Amino acid sequence: MCSIIGYYGNEIAAPIIVKGLKRMEYRGYDSVGVATESNSQIELKKGVGKVEEVNSKIQLDALPGKIGIGHTRWATHGRVTDVNAHPHSSNSGKLAIVHNGIIENFEQLKKELEKEGYIFQSETDTEVIANLIQKNYEATKNVKDTIIKTVSELKGHYAFVVMFENGQLAAARFHEPLIVGIGKDSYFLSSDVLGFIEQTDNAIYIENGNFVIVDKEKLQILDFNGESIKQQITRVSKEFADAYKGDYAHFTLKEISEQPDTIFKAGEKTKEEIKKAVDYIKNSNNVYITGSGTSFNSALIAKQVFAKYAKVKVDAIMSSELQFSSDLIEPDSTLIAISQSGESADVLEAVNIAKKVNCKVISIVNSLTSSLARISNIVIGMNCGPEIGVAATKSFTSQVIIIYKIIEELCNGKLKIDYNEISESISKILENHAQIMRIAKEIKEISDIYVLGRGIHYPIALESALKLKELTYIHAEGIPGGELKHGPLALMDSNVFVIIINPNDSTYLDTLTSSREIKARGAKIIGISDVKSDVYDFWIEIPKTSELSYPISETIPIQLLSYYAAIEKDADPDYPRNLAKSVTVK
Ligand code: GLU
Repeated sequence: MCSIIGYYGNEIAAPIIVKGLKRMEYRGYDSVGVATESNSQIELKKGVGKVEEVNSKIQLDALPGKIGIGHTRWATHGRVTDVNAHPHSSNSGKLAIVHNGIIENFEQLKKELEKEGYIFQSETDTEVIANLIQKNYEATKNVKDTIIKTVSELKGHYAFVVMFENGQLAAARFHEPLIVGIGKDSYFLSSDVLGFIEQTDNAIYIENGNFVIVDKEKLQILDFNGESIKQQITRVSKEFADAYKGDYAHFTLKEISEQPDTIFKAGEKTKEEIKKAVDYIKNSNNVYITGSGTSFNSALIAKQVFAKYAKVKVDAIMSSELQFSSDLIEPDSTLIAISQSGESADVLEAVNIAKKVNCKVISIVNSLTSSLARISNIVIGMNCGPEIGVAATKSFTSQVIIIYKIIEELCNGKLKIDYNEISESISKILENHAQIMRIAKEIKEISDIYVLGRGIHYPIALESALKLKELTYIHAEGIPGGELKHGPLALMDSNVFVIIINPNDSTYLDTLTSSREIKARGAKIIGISDVKSDVYDFWIEIPKTSELSYPISETIPIQLLSYYAAIEKDADPDYPRNLAKSVTVK
């Protein structure tokens, strides 16, 4: 989701801010802007489009001054327009603000401010914060009291950075990420370490409900009551600096290609954590697993393999839906929460609901310093390196591997999963680009595609449909094989393609029958299987493997197909329209 950044230092701020915003582009956004302070004047430029595009049009990086703020917006309140882009200045023009999140009571605050004569240029909730800060600053005459008063009036989830014309910066965090980077004679206030990783790897992760003030004397961290807070400086892993495409045309392709290695890193060096997680699972009233999007599809896989191999019943609940079934969460249970970024607002909310009834939280995250990691009892790292492509690829397979490691431990040595076999199988499939590129050309014009799988292959069908939707904008749906006759068969005709996930396991024959039923209605069939069949119009071969290797193997061709179909359609595979990598708003 959007990114905020503030810079206070000895160098010209705007180019540093623009660079930081570019490094955070993967989070997803629709517009960009920068404001700087120089000689007690605030100057501001902003517009709709990518950082590079807007910068070459209006030279964001040419703004003067050594203090500044920047933003990439992912619109929640108001259309995607230049006026709605951030930063927003207050009526007096004496301060400007960038904001991530939503202000739930913005309409009421706006009405009150309008009554007092404030005029609004944009449709955003953010401009309300700007004017509220102006009003409180005029009343209190100091930044600390202004922020305390302002946050006491705001409802919602937010992180913001405000820059005053005297050059002071302040930033507050309430359920949205805020990290301070501490460089040589400089401070960064950012949503993400990538905002400043080129300059410094010293960071302070601001706790929820705290704010910071930066001026020439110092950096202060305070809670929302104004009490001073002491926080440790953390060394951020330099690995995050490696977010480069290398020789690959896109991050998404690079990340798909990394999977033969990343699966070995999933849950690496967490033997003790996994043991402890298993203790929680064995000793709790109930086990729940939650996630959003791709992570929820991993949760569905977990549900099946926990039951089948470890005989443990797990309820998989979509994070965004958990609040509506919160009465069903039994106290003293265990919640497994999956999130690549560890910042997904829906997942964090689900965790908070479970914690209220004394559940233990095991998180599966890629970012070990994320909000989710910090509120969990046990953290198991995907360790797959930065995933920049908005559509999850390598993080999905890493999540599945961690789930496998947990069931191996639950089975007490009776289940042995062959990770070498999984890795080799992925490598083999990755040699198959040419054939998948040809199929991508075939599907690029179609408007509907279905993906069918049974048993453990059904969550893979869902994940495949999600990938196709995200990357190609083709309407895609995952279908459980047995449900075909209960509805979806009505949709089958010569205009649709169906991908059949059909490895040679216990689901094989039934799924082959489904393929014939579909073929009889004229639809084109792409079969993903280790066994060739005349029913497939296109056959994507996957290696013959053991049962638990299949779900990962069969995911790879669909990731590649989605990627190449996106290229065919001139869609940007790294940054699909309207989507954000780290969905930090509800
Ligand atoms: N709610 C604000 C807006 O719509 C901020 C959105 C964001 O997090 O980018 O402008």
